[in-house]
Parts: sequence; structure tokens; C-alpha cells
Amino acid sequence: MIVYVNGQWLDDSSATVSFQDRAFVFADAVYEVVHIYNGSYFKLDLHLDRMQKGLDKLRIQSQVNDLIPVFNELLNRNPEVKRGSLYVQISRGEAPRAHGLPKLKEPTVVVYVRPLTPDPRIWEQGGRATFVEDLRWQMCNIKTTGLLLNCMAKEEALERGCDDAIFHRGEIVTEASASNLFIVKKGTLVTHPTGPWILPGITRHVVIELAKTLGIPVKEEQFTKDDLLSADELFLTGTMSEVSPYVEVDGNKIGTGEVGPVTKRIQEAFRKETGI
Ligand code: PLP
Repeated sequence: MIVYVNGQWLDDSSATVSFQDRAFVFADAVYEVVHIYNGSYFKLDLHLDRMQKGLDKLRIQSQVNDLIPVFNELLNRNPEVKRGSLYVQISRGEAPRAHGLPKLKEPTVVVYVRPLTPDPRIWEQGGRATFVEDLRWQMCNIKTTGLLLNCMAKEEALERGCDDAIFHRGEIVTEASASNLFIVKKGTLVTHPTGPWILPGITRHVVIELAKTLGIPVKEEQFTKDDLLSADELFLTGTMSEVSPYVEVDGNKIGTGEVGPVTKRIQEAFRKETGI
């Protein structure tokens, strides 16, 4: 695999960054994952906009739009990647370990694409989830590489024989380990509002827009674990999870325990939007 690292195109076996890189020491970095459908990036502009907001908030001096030629070149160099993902990470850069935010002029940039073979099991049959207390920080709207609690939640879910973890802060449901979350109640979609407790997902945004065009009402408001357990349908959204129905949470069936009709309509509309 060819990886772009700080202006150089390298084989992954020889691509390295410094042990003093702030991403390595402090997770002082933001990243994006972009889905590739039919050899093209899906909603690249929205991903880059979110990434720039994260860079600005953390005062990392980098303009992500400068990397657009690199993203295009990656597709040219990897023509076999018709369905896949782009990973881009920008860290503050390399500096001797110290707290405070050094004004570094050379951020560390890593970009690569890789192919994806989709596994349709959850999309078709629905997944099983488990509740995990959301112990993450209050800036979940910035897509930093500090994902240890997301990883721990996912691992806890796998150990409980589930596919994913659903985070809750007290009684309030926030999102999943790497996806946003929607419930369907009496034909209306309900999802946690944007703000510090969730990542403002690109797929979440696309699904809200699609729901509007389908005439499905959407409420962006908080709801509880009990609201989720008594919902008619439940699905997660994310760049890699796309629109993933979930039919069971901690052993409780959601609705009929099968993928519901509203979720199927959203899945179909989303598939059309991706062009596959
Ligand atoms: N929430 C979290 C915690 C995530 O990590 C992600 C994606 O990685 C999402 C939500 C979904 O965001 P997007 O649809 O932009 O991929």
C-alpha cells in the first residue's frame, strides 16, 4: 500500500513518523474517514469542512483543502479501489514532550486509501447492541484520534457477544462507538442534537436530509434508554456502518425484532445517494 506522509509517497513498510509526534504522545491530532463508492469520494467537501473546524478549534495550523490534490492522486494511484475508504490524519507535529500547544508550522500529515469488502450481515439482518456508560470527554464533536474510550466500549460490546456499544450519559442516549444513532417512534426519526456530546456525523446529516425528502419527520432531541428500548426501530449511521439497523439491545427486542419499514426506506434512499 502506498501512503502519503508529509509530502512523500512511501510504501507502508517504510512509512514512519517521529516518536515525538504529538499524535503519538497526546492524541493531538484530528482525522477523517471518507467512503469511496464507484472510485469517487462520498461527501468529501463535508468531511473536509468538519476537519477544518476541528483543526481550527485545536489551533493546529493546517489547511486541509491544500490536500485535495493528494486525495485525487491517491485515487489515480489506486485505480483498483472502487469501494474503499480514505484515511487522513493531521497532527500538530513533532516537538519535545511538553504540555501547552506549541506553535508548530509543520503538521504531520498521513493519508492513504484502502479497499473494502462490505459485510452485509448487519445491513440485512440487523445487529445486536449493548449499553455502555459514556465516559468520554465533553468535546466529542471534534474528531480527534483520542478514541480509547470508543475502543474500550466496542471491546466491551464484543465481549458481551454484541456488534456494537450504545453510549449513554446517565439516562440519556448519545451515540454508538463509531456511529450516530436514530430511533423511530410512531414514524418519526429521533436523534441526539449536535453539540459537545456527539460527533456531528456526515452520514447523520445525509440521512436527515434524505428523511426530509421522503417526508419522514425528524426530531433532533435527547431521549432516554427507556425511549430507545420502547422504540419501533433503531439504526446507526456512519461512514463505514452506513445505515445499520439494530434489532436487539441487551437482550431486548426493538420493535418486532426485525429490520423495520422506515429503516428500509432510509437504507434504500441512502444506497441511491451513494450511487451503488
Ligand atoms: N460518532 C462517532 C463517535 C464516530 O466515530 C463516527 C465516525 O467515525 C460517527 C459518529 C459517524 O460519523 P460519520 O457519519 O461522519 O462517519
